[in-house]
Amino acid sequence: MKCNFCDRQAVYTRPYEKKPLCLVHFNRSFISRVKRTISRFKMLQPRDVVAVGLSGGKDSVVLVHVLASVMKKFPTSRLVAITIDEGIKNYREESLEIAKKHASALGIEHHVFSFEELFGYGLDNFLVKITDNNGKRKGACAYCGIFRRRALNQAALEIGADKVATGHNLDDEAQTVLMNMLRGDLGRFGRADYSPRYKHEKFVPRIKPFLLTPEAEIVLYAVLNGLEYQEMPCPHSVEADRGVIREMMKMYLERNPGAMFNLVRMGSELSDLIRLKEQSSRPLSECSKCGNPTAGKICKVCSILAEVEEASL
Ligand code: SF4
Ligand code: ZN
Repeated sequence: MKCNFCDRQAVYTRPYEKKPLCLVHFNRSFISRVKRTISRFKMLQPRDVVAVGLSGGKDSVVLVHVLASVMKKFPTSRLVAITIDEGIKNYREESLEIAKKHASALGIEHHVFSFEELFGYGLDNFLVKITDNNGKRKGACAYCGIFRRRALNQAALEIGADKVATGHNLDDEAQTVLMNMLRGDLGRFGRADYSPRYKHEKFVPRIKPFLLTPEAEIVLYAVLNGLEYQEMPCPHSVEADRGVIREMMKMYLERNPGAMFNLVRMGSELSDLIRLKEQSSRPLSECSKCGNPTAGKICKVCSILAEVEEASL
């Protein structure tokens, strides 16, 4: 099959557009979608120091390459890579190596921060601590997600970044919108970060340049452009609630391939509406224990750590 825009052989046809694309036109449209997303949600300013979360997985590897290329337009901006080592044995070691290779190939600074040094526990040890006598505990991702967000923020503050860029893609965001709806949690839409916004002096705004890029296209971009990434999934990924939502969506998407775009568009519109209604630019307060920005009195990280301390008494 020929490309829709030239005589070259097509490598991919988007299920929601039905236009065959060759490698050159696929790459071109991939990058220009990211540029459009960045400008539509006002994600970058010309002098930004951007800390990109580089785990070594497909999303973050492609993101660091695409951002390095997109940000060339702003010679005053700077891109720095941050890898968070959660302390997951036989998993994180490989991705750390991959992350290091990409940062050095692109000639960008690379910093590694670990849960162990930030919170006193690596994830594996932490999970042992919170497992009760019957061998039961909550899913690992519930804790890991909270620690990782804090770790990224802390790392970004330390290196003086203006933004934290993460590899969250269209599928992730559509799943989040659906999960929030199923939980009936309207408040979360108001707190969602579609455009970066000031919340607290110790909070570095987050951006998701792949917000409108499907996961399948990120994998394809990595493969077609020979970008090495860690293929092995995290051993705890089976514990995540998202798996069920992902399966539900897969069935529906076979009939309606554009549905993920609709969900994310609705999420972003709801977010604007709720903020407008609640005037929810309510500033964050500071955790009374650690001083980090939080919506309550004590932040989630401190509440989790207090639980563990209690359990070990
Ligand atoms: Fe952490 Fe869960 Fe992701 Fe593993 S799958 S890195 S435990 S959030
Ligand atoms: Zn705290």
